Amino acid sequence: MRLVFLGPPGVGKGTQAEDISLKEDIPHISSGNLLREDVEAKTEIGLKAKAYIEKGLLVPDELVVKIVVGKITTEYCKNGFILDGFPRNLSQAKILDETLNELGEKIDKVFYFTATEDIIIKRLAGRRICKSCGANYHETFMPPAKIMVCDKCGSELYQRKDDNPKTISERLRVYREQTEELIDYYKNNSELAEINCNGNISEIHKKIFKEFHSQSRDEREME
Ligand SMILES: [Zn+2]
Repeated sequence: MRLVFLGPPGVGKGTQAEDISLKEDIPHISSGNLLREDVEAKTEIGLKAKAYIEKGLLVPDELVVKIVVGKITTEYCKNGFILDGFPRNLSQAKILDETLNELGEKIDKVFYFTATEDIIIKRLAGRRICKSCGANYHETFMPPAKIMVCDKCGSELYQRKDDNPKTISERLRVYREQTEELIDYYKNNSELAEINCNGNISEIHKKIFKEFHSQSRDEREME
């Protein structure tokens, strides 16, 4: 299964992707995590990306594409992947489709996650991330057992610099601007399932699994 998880920052798609990844044994490829790994390792791409991330700006296409396409064409992803945070715009989506096309593959399904702006701000402003393994927590909705300590690896948690209400609003504006045509593109070129994320995590979860296990359009047409 080659899946794309689309949606604004803070909609909760990373948590859901992580979960499906574990249950269905499909690699979870988060462009954000890949970028942060490069930033921390101070690679050439990482250093360039850092300046953008700290200002709450999007990292330029060429850098993101290099990192993500590099990853999904490795042995690790040969049976599929869940892309989270990528593609972010039409040009990235086209490069992704071209790359898969050359390999005789395609995106099987696109999950489009939506939520209202006030819910997104609440979720992001309380978000805490593990410094070493990248696990996500939430002050209110998903607190770690020990304050600011990762349940999984025991490392310290931190709040991203761009997770403050002012930067979040700006990120959402940029997101909407860039993804409108992306959503249209996937509506026309792929199978798109919209998942409303205003409810609680377990409700959202059920919706995703239902979609995940439903037949694809291609399969239905073959019958
Ligand atoms: Zn951790």
